[in-house]
Amino acid sequence: MFKTIAIVILTLGLGGAGYFGWTQKSAYGTAAKEVAALTTQLEEAEKKAEETAEELVTSEEALPPLEAKVKEFDAVKGVFANGAVLKDLEALYAKDKKLSTEKQLGLAGIRMLTNGGKDPATIEAFLKAIEMTDWKGQQQVICAAQKALAASGEKVKVMSECKEEAPAAKGGKDAKDGKESKDPKDAKADKADPKGKKDDGHGAKKDEKHAAAHWDYEGEMGPEHWGKEFPTCGKGKSQSPLNIKGPFEKVRFNVVPDYKPGPLKILNNGHTIQVNVTPGSKIRIDGKAFDLLQFHFHRPSEEHINGKPSAMVIHFVHKNESGELAVLGVLLQEGNENPGIKTLWSYAPTKEGAEVAPENVAFNPTNLLPREMEFFHYDGSLTTPPCTEKVKFYILKTQVNISKEQITQFPFKMNARPVQPLNERKIFTN
Ligand SMILES: [Zn+2]
Repeated sequence: MFKTIAIVILTLGLGGAGYFGWTQKSAYGTAAKEVAALTTQLEEAEKKAEETAEELVTSEEALPPLEAKVKEFDAVKGVFANGAVLKDLEALYAKDKKLSTEKQLGLAGIRMLTNGGKDPATIEAFLKAIEMTDWKGQQQVICAAQKALAASGEKVKVMSECKEEAPAAKGGKDAKDGKESKDPKDAKADKADPKGKKDDGHGAKKDEKHAAAHWDYEGEMGPEHWGKEFPTCGKGKSQSPLNIKGPFEKVRFNVVPDYKPGPLKILNNGHTIQVNVTPGSKIRIDGKAFDLLQFHFHRPSEEHINGKPSAMVIHFVHKNESGELAVLGVLLQEGNENPGIKTLWSYAPTKEGAEVAPENVAFNPTNLLPREMEFFHYDGSLTTPPCTEKVKFYILKTQVNISKEQITQFPFKMNARPVQPLNERKIFTN
């Protein structure tokens, strides 16, 4: 799946240095640290897309062009759905008094990927950004964005200039060349390879990087190595998951879910089974509303209670208007069969691939919650690369049953990150 993500990010021009301003990142202080992992990923994406450009041509010939775009767009939507990428970028740009048109377009593009092609305000902002942008310089971005919008079902005219795709990687490289690079490694690479053309030495280096761009739960790409490619995973001081144990500090607010039934959209993203949620389901945390974006599963539970994991955990991922993320964790203990999970497992793809949306199947996430909403709370991070921090966790004390058979039916034997150091943090309870 990483390949399609890399290509779409890149063809959207968002992988270009110009859009993320990574050549100026030292000017942003701590905000820049938060996006360091992201920029590394995008750099990988840029390289990877160069390598796989040829492969893409072949696969696009095999499928009608629009169908191929729809598949790419689905894969990308899954990755952007939790809003972490958008949050990182917004944090980085927050200090800019006036964003360049390139950055505005990049930001609008990421918003579109995060919010989907159905949000009128997002589309309007994106079209406005396109209007403001110099056509010649930004042709790649506009073409790819038009195709992505078209693929998401919007009535968008794809300009005739967009029919032939120029090598996308070149656009990214050139944008980077146009700015002063503070990273000596970048400067060297650019000097030796100003147009992004391949030579043998460069190619070998790419293969090495290419392999490292993936991550896994064991072996050479396991959690203890994530920090190499995703710095926050290694250096972050507020990482998740945690071993939850006392002493706890008391808080007085409540967490009140208000989830609604909606059409089931489920995917196997290669790391977990994830259910994408249509807008309308919310949770109120201390009275503040957060939208439910998606939920997914880990086996065993990532969180430990007094040193012990549960059989599994469901992470409900929410985001509020300011882009803050909140995860509600529901621990699953071995016991009776869980009817909600029975429905999900009957549609969950066993192999990695695009989202599936079975016809006329509705699902209500409320079915997976316990009655009691007492929780443990702490500040943490995404538990998968890039391990972005400032994610609020609420782990429910009441566990929900799942049968032994249902546990073994989950297609991942082990997809839990080990518990992380507490450092200066406190764990709260209501
Ligand atoms: Zn999770």
